[in-house]
Amino acid sequence: MEEKNVIVIGAGFSGLSAATSLADRGYKVTVLEKNSTPGGRARSYSAQGFTFDMGPSWYWMPDVFESYFRKFGKSTADYYDLKRLDPSYTVVFGEDDFVDVPASLDELKALFEHWEPGSAQQLHKFLEQAAYKYEVGINQLVYKPGRSVTEFMNLRLLLDVLRMDVFQSFHKHIRRFFSHPRIIKLMEFPILFLGALPENTPALYSLMNYADISLGTWYPMGGMHKIIEGMVQLAEEKGVTFNYSQDVQEIQVHAGVATRVVTATGVFEADVIVASADYHHVEKNLLPAQYQSYSDTYWDSRVMAPSSLIFYLGISKRLNNLRHHNLFFDEDFGPHAREIYTNPKWPAKPLFYVSAPSVTDPSVAPAGCENLFILIPVAPGLQDTEEIREKYYNLVMDRLEKLTNQEIRQSVVYKRSYAHNDFIHDYNAFKGNAYGLANTLLQTALLKPALKSKKVKNLFYTGQLTVPGPGVPPSLISGQVVAAEVAKEYRTPVST
Ligand SMILES: Cc1cc2nc3c(=O)[nH]c(=O)nc-3n(C[C@H](O)[C@H](O)[C@H](O)COP(=O)(O)OP(=O)(O)OC[C@H]3O[C@@H](n4cnc5c(N)ncnc54)[C@H](O)[C@@H]3O)c2cc1C
Repeated sequence: MEEKNVIVIGAGFSGLSAATSLADRGYKVTVLEKNSTPGGRARSYSAQGFTFDMGPSWYWMPDVFESYFRKFGKSTADYYDLKRLDPSYTVVFGEDDFVDVPASLDELKALFEHWEPGSAQQLHKFLEQAAYKYEVGINQLVYKPGRSVTEFMNLRLLLDVLRMDVFQSFHKHIRRFFSHPRIIKLMEFPILFLGALPENTPALYSLMNYADISLGTWYPMGGMHKIIEGMVQLAEEKGVTFNYSQDVQEIQVHAGVATRVVTATGVFEADVIVASADYHHVEKNLLPAQYQSYSDTYWDSRVMAPSSLIFYLGISKRLNNLRHHNLFFDEDFGPHAREIYTNPKWPAKPLFYVSAPSVTDPSVAPAGCENLFILIPVAPGLQDTEEIREKYYNLVMDRLEKLTNQEIRQSVVYKRSYAHNDFIHDYNAFKGNAYGLANTLLQTALLKPALKSKKVKNLFYTGQLTVPGPGVPPSLISGQVVAAEVAKEYRTPVST
C-alpha cells in the first residue's frame, strides 16, 4: 500500500497533535505554518530578558497532557518539569480583600464552610458528580468525532449523557448547591474558559470545577511554551517535517478532491489535508466558493468565544501582593458579561486577569524583575485602535496599583499590547477571536462545524473551532480525534 502524503495547515496545539498522531500511524506528514515559530496562539517570544507566553497560561487537566505523551511511549517528564501551584490562584474582590484558593481540598472546604455553613459537605457532593462528568466527558465524549448521532447510541453512554445534566444550565446547577456570592463567583470562574455565560453553558461543564479543584493548577517550568517545544520534538522524532513562514493561500480542489496546497512561496501535493488554522479562514479564504460547507449567514450566527486585550509587561522590580495567577473580580461580572455576549462593546468596568509567572519561575524575567501578562476578555469583532488599548492600559494599571497597593507604571521597562487586529493578522482569526467557538449547548458535539468537510472528500478540520472545543486540552484531543478519522478513511501500511 502506498504511503499517503498528509499536509497539516498550522502548528498550534491541534495541528501538532494531529501531525504526530498521523506520523505515528505511518503517514508522511508535512506541516505548513504561516508564522516563523510553532505554537499558534501558544507561541512565546523574548524581549529585553523577559520571556512571554503569548496565549495560554493555565495548565489544567494534567491527565490529558500525560495521556497524549503516553500514547507515543513518552511522558510529560521527558519534555518538561511540571510544578503544582499552591495557592492555585488568588481572587481579588477589592482593596485588602482577596482570597488565595488553596491547592488542598480540605483547606478549600474550610474556606467554603467559613463563608457558608454546610457548604463543605455540599462541595463534597458537587465534586462527586463533577468527577463522574469528568470521567465520562473527558475519557469518552470528547474523543467522539461528532459525525453522527449513532456515536452516542450505546445504552450506557446514553444513560451517562442523561445523568450528566446536558440540558440544565450551569448557572442553575451551581445555585442548587451554594448561595454565598463568593462561592458562586469562584465556582463560575472556570466556566469562563469555555467562552460562554454560565446561563448558556450546560451543567455538564461542572467537570471544569473538578479539573480546577481536584486535579489542580500546574505550571511547566520555563513557561507554557515548553509544552509546544516538547510536542515539536516528539513530532520530529516521529518523522513530521515542519515548514515555517509558509502562509497557505489556496487549497486546490478537482472534482471534490483536494490535490494541492499553495503557499506564498511553494506548492505542496497532498493526498489528505488536515486544516488546523481557524475553520472560517480555511473555508472562506482558501477554498473555492462551491467547496465551502458553511455560508456567511451560518458563520455570522455562531457564538464566538471572546477576544482579548492583552498587555505583556516587563517590570524592573519585584512586585508585592501578586501570586502566579490573579483574578481581579473587584467589579460586577454581570455588566462586563453583557458587554461581551449580549451587547458587544468595549466594557465600562472590566474584570481582568494578571499572570505573573516570574513569581514561580525566575527564568522568565531578569533577576530582580517581574514578568506580567494582563488580559481583559472582550467581545470579538470590536474596533481595535491604539487609543482604545491605551485607555484600557491606564484603567487596568490604576486598578492594579490600587488593589496591590504599590506603584507599577514607573517601573515598566517593556510593554506590548495585543488585541483583535493582532489575532487577525497573526492567526487569521474570525472577528479577532482569541478562543475559537463558544461551548454553548447549541454548539456542542454534532452541532459544531464538522471535523470533515461536507464538500471536499479528503479535507479534514481540527482545532478550537471544531470538536471538542476551545482550550489547550481540547485542542490536543481534537488533533487525535481527527487523526483517527483520517485513518478510518485513508489506510496506510501501519494502520491496515
Ligand atoms: C490569550 C489566550 C489565552 C488563553 N489561555 C488559555 C489557558 O490559560 N489555558 C487553556 O487551556 N487554553 C487557553 N487558551 C486557548 C488555547 O490557547 C487555544 O484553544 C489553543 O491554543 C488553540 O489551538 P489550535 O491549534 O486550535 O489553534 P492555533 O493555536 O490558532 O493554531 C492554528 C495555527 O494555524 C496557523 N495558520 C492560520 N492561518 C494559516 C495559513 N493560512 N497558513 C498556514 N498557517 C496558518 C496559525 O498561525 C496557527 O499557528 C488561550 C488562548 C488565548 C488566545
